[in-house]
Amino acid sequence: MDRHAQRRDKLRSLVRAAGAEAILVTSEVNVTYLTGFTGDSSYLFLSADEAIILSDARYEEDLQEECPGLDCEIRRPPVKMTEWVERVVNRAKPRRLAVEADSLNVAQFDLFEDQLKSTTLIKTSGLVEQLREIKDKEELSEIREAVRLAERAFAVVRAGLRAEQTEREIAHQLEHQIRLFGGRGCAFSPIVAVGPQAALPHAKSGSRRLEENPLVLIDWGAQGRLYRSDLTRVLATGKISPKLETIYGVVLRAQKAAIAAIGPNVPMEDVDAAARRIIEDAGYGKNFGHSLGHGIGLQVHEAPRLSQGEKRVLKPGMVVTVEPGIYLPKWGGVRIEDDVLVTRDGNEVLSSVPKELADCLPAV
Ligand code: ZN
Ligand code: ZN
Repeated sequence: MDRHAQRRDKLRSLVRAAGAEAILVTSEVNVTYLTGFTGDSSYLFLSADEAIILSDARYEEDLQEECPGLDCEIRRPPVKMTEWVERVVNRAKPRRLAVEADSLNVAQFDLFEDQLKSTTLIKTSGLVEQLREIKDKEELSEIREAVRLAERAFAVVRAGLRAEQTEREIAHQLEHQIRLFGGRGCAFSPIVAVGPQAALPHAKSGSRRLEENPLVLIDWGAQGRLYRSDLTRVLATGKISPKLETIYGVVLRAQKAAIAAIGPNVPMEDVDAAARRIIEDAGYGKNFGHSLGHGIGLQVHEAPRLSQGEKRVLKPGMVVTVEPGIYLPKWGGVRIEDDVLVTRDGNEVLSSVPKELADCLPAV
């Protein structure tokens, strides 16, 4: 059985456990995960004995190529997707149909509820996302490739940094290099933040130049084929102030402590706490205003979350970011982010961009 069929079988058990006979998968990324199909605007109907992609004529060829053997219902204009769903579901007549509450909007839900007379809709959340948390061998090799692409691009861009470059130019260079190395592009719009901008954890890359401040934070990632990476480094572009040295040291210690805490059966909140404790003890607790990390895969932010109050435990095959930070308004911020695989006996850090303070300076 191919890996997509295996995933669909696992989903079938989850759907049964949720009290439904079938599921309508409407999240595009979940459809990709379950079928290998990479187009958009398509749904998957999955019951105990059927798996049908509902798509449209634009994708007929792609479907044959990417998921041969899978049943497809190809609609042509002017038939609407909602009518197509009605047709497929009313033919199979499940009494209870699971829908993805995080993907379907209220208007679609109401419409389906109205049209699917003999079927009760069951709202579910995270069924496929839960499967996606554990990466198989192929997924891991795609993530490794995405990390490698990000690292190669960063090395080239870093070697070419010039004082007069703007944040936006550097972001553009990263994208350009990732594509030259064969990637699809950036995993997300890179954050290149000079000085005070780095105090905003989700800063937009703008027109500030490197020469305006001795600190630049770069948060970037690559998309290889389908999978993504996510890294952050801070570079010093001038003389390092004692303040930067102190804060960098605290964040680096926090990040290393969190990575050391990662392993199978470790509660996710404990990994967050390992980093947070160090930052709090140094007096910067209130300046670390986000959770420690998140899963990466088909999406740059996906389950699980390494955050306070997350009692679930890590499992082998999960890939998470570890990204503590300290942000000081008007001054700047330091965040260090790596991608880490949970293994059977501990963890493996997939990214290898040097991160000791001495490795971060001077960049221009
Ligand atoms: Zn990031
Ligand atoms: Zn991240």
